[in-house]
Amino acid sequence: MAREFTWPAGTRAAAAFTFDLDAESCALAADRSSHDRMSLMSHQAYGPQTAVPRLLAILARQEITATFFVPGLSAEMYPDTVRRIVDSGHEIAHHGYTHEPMGSLTRVQEARVLDRGLDALDAVAGVRPVGYRAPWWELNWHTPELLIERGFRYESSLLDGDRPYALGSTESDASLVEIPVDWALDDWEQYAFFPGWTGSGVIESPAKAKEMWLLEARAMHRENGCFVLTNHPFLSGRPGRAHQLEELIEQVKALPGMWVTTLQQIAAHAASLDLPPYRHRRMSAEQVRDAFAHIDE
Ligand SMILES: [Zn+2]
Repeated sequence: MAREFTWPAGTRAAAAFTFDLDAESCALAADRSSHDRMSLMSHQAYGPQTAVPRLLAILARQEITATFFVPGLSAEMYPDTVRRIVDSGHEIAHHGYTHEPMGSLTRVQEARVLDRGLDALDAVAGVRPVGYRAPWWELNWHTPELLIERGFRYESSLLDGDRPYALGSTESDASLVEIPVDWALDDWEQYAFFPGWTGSGVIESPAKAKEMWLLEARAMHRENGCFVLTNHPFLSGRPGRAHQLEELIEQVKALPGMWVTTLQQIAAHAASLDLPPYRHRRMSAEQVRDAFAHIDE
């Protein structure tokens, strides 16, 4: 019997602090010649080398566990960092191999990305992840089925909800848990700038970023929602930003009944509710043509 979504007894909302350990991979995926740029590579390496130890210390001080989405290439380049994350009790989840732009890949290529990423996480840390987040949150219509075939339990790249739901495959009766995200809860828009690659040159104050995220966390708490913050260690692990992040964690933890945990735990809870799968409707090419027919004549 399908049921409504509810949080575990004693809680009224959830918050997950998630970190995408993109390191060099996202710069390479945007432009393969990025490896020629020493300074850009050093900017990305800051994440696993300098930021992750600082972030792990914050998480330990705050006594919370977090979810780290790790591209396979990052795991192979920084095996000690990834093992340290695992040893600290945090969740490792899948985030592609070289942060591939999924929108441009075929189904067969995407399957290879998933398998190579799984192999890397297994070889480096002995981890078989249950969670997936598409690079740039770019999910394809066939992706849920590829994930279900590989035993993934949840996915966190879609943007159409305030709390987890059962995401039905578009190709079978199967489903997995979706934990939706939001670009306003991603640190890229606040902090990312590298000449010739990304950003407008405007870098926001960490106090402003924290204020914005705290407003969302409080509202999600009021709405019985799921606050999912996405941070990149190479961005949010710099000292001023990391200190603001720690203050944010403290204040989110203090909200009464706020369950601060990993996406894996949230997904396991959602799966236990036996929710009816939601199947996204894909418009056909004909429907799209028809939608513009009045101006295309
Ligand atoms: Zn990423």
